[in-house]
Amino acid sequence: MSINSGDPYRDSTIYEAIQYEKEKNQPHCCICGEAIWDDKLWDFIDAIYCEECAEAQFKKNTEDYIRNGNFI
Ligand SMILES: [Zn+2]
Repeated sequence: MSINSGDPYRDSTIYEAIQYEKEKNQPHCCICGEAIWDDKLWDFIDAIYCEECAEAQFKKNTEDYIRNGNFI
């Protein structure tokens, strides 16, 4: 959408208001609180996460989950 009223201040104010409205309707990450604009998000038990937070929260090293075996 392009806005051009001839008044740059007015244009930027309108633009910001539109952005604000759009952002309000976006899903928001439950950790960082940012609006999620990506095509995909993470929804775990009704909690919404952005890609970065989901990775930080849920992606683990498999190595850490290998049981310590006693081989003797
Ligand atoms: Zn996040």
